[in-house]
Parts: sequence; C-alpha cells; structure tokens
Amino acid sequence: MRFAITSKGDTKSNTLMHKMRSYLLDFDLVYDEEQPDIVISVGGDGTLLYAFHRYSSRLDKTAFVGVHTGHLGFYADWVPDEIEKLVIAIAKTPFQVVEYPLLEVIVRYLNGGKETRYLALNESTVKAVNGTFVMDVEIRGQHFERFRGDGLCLSTPSGSTAYNKALGGAILHPSLPAIQLAEMASINNKVFRTVGSPLVLPAHHACLLKPVNEPDFKITIDHLSLLHKDVKSIQYRVADEKIRFARFRPFPFWKRVHDSFVAD
Ligand code: NAP
Ligand code: MN
Repeated sequence: MRFAITSKGDTKSNTLMHKMRSYLLDFDLVYDEEQPDIVISVGGDGTLLYAFHRYSSRLDKTAFVGVHTGHLGFYADWVPDEIEKLVIAIAKTPFQVVEYPLLEVIVRYLNGGKETRYLALNESTVKAVNGTFVMDVEIRGQHFERFRGDGLCLSTPSGSTAYNKALGGAILHPSLPAIQLAEMASINNKVFRTVGSPLVLPAHHACLLKPVNEPDFKITIDHLSLLHKDVKSIQYRVADEKIRFARFRPFPFWKRVHDSFVAD
C-alpha cells in the first residue's frame, strides 16, 4: 500500500509526520506523494482541507485519515498518543471506508469565458467585492428570492460545523447527501425580503446564484479565496464525487459534535 503524509508544518506536526513515516516504512508500506492509497493528515481540520484539495483529482483512489496536534477536529480525530495504534491498523488491516458528500461549484462567466468547476469539503461562500451583495437565488430552476446582504454560504454536511454553524445554520449528519444554504446578514425591511432561515437542499436540487448588477465576487472554496470577475452565474449542488475516510474505529459524528461544542 502506498501512503503520503501532509503536515500542518509546525514542529509538533512535523515530528509526528516523520515518526509515522518511518514506522510505516518499517511495515513495508511505500511512501508515494503522487499516487497514495491513503493520505494521513497531521495538524488540524485545516490540514485535512489542504490534503483534500491536493488529492482532489484522485478521490476514488485515495482514503484520508486525520491526526490532530491541537484541539479535536472533525476531520482530524486521532490524537498523537494513538499513532502507534493507528500505524498498526493502517499496516495490518484492510480498512473500512466511510464516504462524506461534497459540494460542487460551477462558476460561469459573461463574455463566453470558460466555466470553472470546484469541489468543496466544507463550504463555498460568495461576497461582493464592492458595495452590497445582490443575488437572485434560483432553486431547481425556479426563482426563489432576491438576496441583499453580506453574502451567502453553501456548505456540505461535514462543513456544517464550520462557517455554516457560525451563521446559525443547522448541523447536518454527513450521511445525508445534501447541501445547506445559509445567509450572511441579509437586509430585511419593508422593501427587501429573504426567507431568513437556512435551507437544506437534496442532491437533485441545484441552487443557482445570478448577479443582479455588479458581476465581480469574492468566492471561497474551503480555505481558498479567489476574485472572480464578470460572473454570469454560480451553480451549487451535491457533487457526484465523495471524500473517503479510512475508518479504524467508531467515533460517531454526534460524539464529535458533543466533544467539540458541548463538553469533553
Ligand atoms: P482556520 O481559520 O484555522 O479555520 C477556522 C476554524 O474552523 C478552525 O478552528 C478550524 O479547525 C475549524 N474548522 C475547519 N473545518 C471545520 C469543520 N468541518 N468543522 C468544524 N470546525 C472546522 O482556517 P482553516 O483551517 O484553513 O479552515 C478553513 C475553514 O475556516 C473554512 O472552510 C471555514 O469553514 C472556516 N471559517 C469559519 C469562519 C467563521 O466561523 N466565522 C470564517 C471563515 C472561515 P483547525 O484549527 O483544526 O484547522
Ligand atoms: Mn486551521
């Protein structure tokens, strides 16, 4: 089996990375940064986001596992003390895989520019570059609302505990193939009206955002942020692709939610 390890880059994570690497090599696994069967991320959730984007072209062939060197993470749920156990599990057992849904983002441009497609593990947000953000929101081909405010956030179920949660969105279990639309500070008065609640869309309902005036936006895909000019539309839906996590022991999602947000 071929493996790769990505580190957050701090001393603690790097030390752990080198340790795991030499243990796994001792077990006759092959270090292959280009075509790994398993990617071990050492650091935090942000490190796993980075690893996901690095290997997003081979999601069907790569499984991910996360070790956290700081606080408990949603994607990084192994602690440094357990790495011997983890290494043995990786080396010895054919591991189980759990799949989580991803968000597909397609940005189309005015003037016939080539469309761009992204996959997000957490979410994609859209904000204006200048002035108020104004977007027509279509759901499944039907006009839904004209949104005015700071921006919009479309998240995956596993990303629902990240930015989405700070916006008052619900936490969705990652076994649900769905995406969630959450508002950022919508303008609501006698003239302007939005639904005001987060919406959860099933896999066969796409959400299309169409600029009303100003066509330039700041679009984030997880930790990546890009300026897009002359945007015609942004289409969001549940992606056909999924992320695969190597699972060596049960750690139920609701327990991770409890341990991260309620109490240890
Ligand atoms: P960061 O600034 O380190 O991320 C902010 C926090 O979100 C960190 O504590 C990070 O954990 C945590 N996080 C990441 N994914 C999560 C998930 N699925 N569930 C719960 N917590 C999660 O930047 P980053 O590490 O590059 O992560 C990028 C993410 O930051 C974005 O995808 C977005 O979700 C989030 N973000 C949140 C806000 C907000 O809440 N207002 C604003 C901007 C961005 P680690 O420390 O383990 O990395
Ligand atoms: Mn981080």
